[in-house]
Amino acid sequence: MSVAGEQVERTPAPYATPDDLREALVDGGVIHLTAVDGVHHRSWAWERVLRGVEGHVMGKRVATHATQRWFPPIMPREEFLKTDYVRSFPDLVGSIDVFTGGDKEHRALLEVLEQGGDWTAHLTPAEVVLPSSVCHPLYGTLAQDVPAEGVDEECSGWSFRHEPSLDPARMQIFRIYEFVRIGTPEQSLAHRDDWLQRGLAALTELGLPVRSEAANDPFFGRVGRMLAANQLESALKYEMCVDLTEVRPTAIGSSNYHEDHFGHTFGLHLADGTPAHSACIGFGLDRITLALFAVHGTDLDAWPEEVRSALAL
Ligand code: ZN
Repeated sequence: MSVAGEQVERTPAPYATPDDLREALVDGGVIHLTAVDGVHHRSWAWERVLRGVEGHVMGKRVATHATQRWFPPIMPREEFLKTDYVRSFPDLVGSIDVFTGGDKEHRALLEVLEQGGDWTAHLTPAEVVLPSSVCHPLYGTLAQDVPAEGVDEECSGWSFRHEPSLDPARMQIFRIYEFVRIGTPEQSLAHRDDWLQRGLAALTELGLPVRSEAANDPFFGRVGRMLAANQLESALKYEMCVDLTEVRPTAIGSSNYHEDHFGHTFGLHLADGTPAHSACIGFGLDRITLALFAVHGTDLDAWPEEVRSALAL
């Protein structure tokens, strides 16, 4: 409780449960819930912070020659298939359907609609899907000959994962800023490891008590459990985590080594003809924004001056 004229008391993270965190964000007017779990409307305060986070992260770039791209929230279906995401995470994929019929098909659709039937059966898959990872749309657009010094790219965009949840950290669609490097195994590993340290430092500057943890992805099914174990054992992926609730740590970014996976499937190769390796660090812009509201409270004016300054608020 706060009294007029008194400093507003902030509830510091970690919250006891994701429900408590969600309620604080909704009560603070930071997010608005919709009829579907994991689909939030963001407030202008959220957007201001998110853009500040993007600017803060971009300010840490070292490869100043890197091209920067802001992707739309859709990507070519054919490119998406090459990422193998459908094989590994079929449960998370989001495809888009469109209506391509004429008057006759429209009448049939309206009939089903009026009867409360499944009108989506009258749609067909579009040539675009929702990206599952922000760097996926990148690889198919790059020159396939990778120069000896490697290729640096930066991209920002939306990522969709179908995992409805009331946990405010588990959004179905969210933005990530990525620094990507394509090159030799050594260049890729150095990118992942250097950026992990740089990333932790950048997030610490925002007052976030962040740490790194070896991680694995939620690969689907029985084969997936082996893939996940292998990913963890080979230490390919590190997450940057904060404790926003007492239930589980929240990953607000990750640094990943893809080995030659994308080089192989997208035909990117080194001078000796072998597939290029790649690595990316992704800063979860919406997750970092969430973490900032959880740690510093829902009143932007009460945030520490150095954090407001780093975010240009
Ligand atoms: Zn990536």
